[in-house]
Amino acid sequence: MLALIENSPTFFIGFTFVLSLLVGSFLNVVIYRIPVMMKRGWEAEIYAYQHPDADPESYPHSGETFNLVKPDSKCPKCGHGIRAWENIPVLSWLFLRGKCSACATSISMRYPAIELLTALLSALAAWQLGYAPITLAFIVGTWLLVAMTFIDIDEMLLPDTLTLSFLWLGLLTVTIFEPSHLVDSVLGAIAGYLSLFSVYWLFKLATGKEGMGFGDFKLLAAIGVWVGWQHLPIVILLSSAVGAVVGIALMIIQKKGRTLAIPFGPYLAAAGFLTMLYGDAIADWYIATLL
Ligand SMILES: [Zn+2]
Repeated sequence: MLALIENSPTFFIGFTFVLSLLVGSFLNVVIYRIPVMMKRGWEAEIYAYQHPDADPESYPHSGETFNLVKPDSKCPKCGHGIRAWENIPVLSWLFLRGKCSACATSISMRYPAIELLTALLSALAAWQLGYAPITLAFIVGTWLLVAMTFIDIDEMLLPDTLTLSFLWLGLLTVTIFEPSHLVDSVLGAIAGYLSLFSVYWLFKLATGKEGMGFGDFKLLAAIGVWVGWQHLPIVILLSSAVGAVVGIALMIIQKKGRTLAIPFGPYLAAAGFLTMLYGDAIADWYIATLL
């Protein structure tokens, strides 16, 4: 099996696709549960702060098991436990025609869509980079970007557990496989964080509002590790351009005016992914167009 993956690019891409479908299924759990876990943690912390003498067992949610593994997935409507054959990425959803097998409540198309997206992006990385240890790290980074994108869309939140995992994974990857680029990566992290941090403060001083969250700074810092400081402008230009177009389109469609809050993380993640894969090509094209 390992020899096949090593010697046949097609097999490697196919293997990555199937593995990433399964991971995409787990990412659906991560996307739903991490924000719930964070909110429960905050509730317990607030309670502990307000009741310093309280018994920890009386804290909200104490004694409840809720993590990425437990409890088992079940239908939110009827409580029907999801059986193994109902949990096959994409296929189960198609087979069940998007409905719970017990109560026929419809299951969002977003679940198979996220599984498919995870698989397609990972296969694209496998195809572009070929079989190598650094490609595996890159694919894990892609999984983290997918999870962050959808949590930010749902909750306007980029959890530290994900942004910082992406940052440390990048630093470890560069240190092991591209040590000559380590300085570029560290400068990329610093420049990434400080660039959005400055925009945040300028915007706040000018308008009194907060236009971005600290999670965005951490995400761009992590992307800076992966692409190096030289390609950071590409990430910022791409994400701002796409963010502005989508933001204006949403304002027109939803007629919510300028107060509409849209998360910036998804644009950073998309621009980061494209620059991680195609940064050199984009830079060449940009320079060639300018000159
Ligand atoms: Zn049901």
